[in-house]
Amino acid sequence: MLVSAKDMLNKARDGKYAVGQFNINNLEWTKAILLTAQEQNSPVILGVSEGAGKYMCGYKTVVGMVNGMIDELGITVPVALHLDHGSYEGAKACIDAGFSSVMFDGSHYPIEENIAKTKELVAKCEELGLSIEAEVGSIGGEEDGVIGAGECADPDECKAIADLGVTMLAAGIGNIHGKYPENWAGLSFETLAAVKEKVGNMPLVLHGGTGIPEDMIKKAISLGVAKINVNTECQLAFQEATRKYIEEGKDKQGKGFDPRKLLAPGFEAIKQTVKEKMELFGSIGKA
Ligand SMILES: [Zn+2]
Repeated sequence: MLVSAKDMLNKARDGKYAVGQFNINNLEWTKAILLTAQEQNSPVILGVSEGAGKYMCGYKTVVGMVNGMIDELGITVPVALHLDHGSYEGAKACIDAGFSSVMFDGSHYPIEENIAKTKELVAKCEELGLSIEAEVGSIGGEEDGVIGAGECADPDECKAIADLGVTMLAAGIGNIHGKYPENWAGLSFETLAAVKEKVGNMPLVLHGGTGIPEDMIKKAISLGVAKINVNTECQLAFQEATRKYIEEGKDKQGKGFDPRKLLAPGFEAIKQTVKEKMELFGSIGKA
């Protein structure tokens, strides 16, 4: 059964580790992440962007697939199904479809409008026992057409949004979606500490977890980050393993063209990546 991300993130914050949000794209992705979480006895958050939701035929299909897998794979660790960077309409659609968690990304609205819309969604989630993530200060890079400049969040704006009763807060601290550029300035721990001071106990979320150096990840966790989003890294691992399989001509040997064989190396590569991230975030054995 899907659960809200609230308890797992509060536990992570108190225990000084972070729960990974791994974005899913299809059946293989979902199965790889769920099986790894179960094998490692780790809580996990499955992230779904609006684009990935559309790709998988819509939110109801996603909910059906994930619930079916939890049942048939015997998954007993806590699993949250979370809308990533949701629009106002998208968040409402996911709530109706059976997601257990949503992110409302109102960071591109003026702060007053972000507050009004967040407030409405918080009330809806509270009523249904779902968790909700809000964002202040856009995250750099591009994700599903949402382009952010990588700014640092205003700690006072963070407090204004946190006070609305959201479950967790994504604050921009110089992090970027996708691959980090050579000249990246690194995370702003000054901003993170200032935000933490204003929002108190609220679990913080770090987006763009691909390519942030390990010491920075650990420091961010020590400063209150309890959820870290990973997307690009699984995509790169899948791509590299699939490329290798084809370049070695394995798709032309025997029944190597069978999609269950063709996609197997990528599947294993995702599992390995998820396991490494769970180790780094400290969530292994914390289910
Ligand atoms: Zn993000």
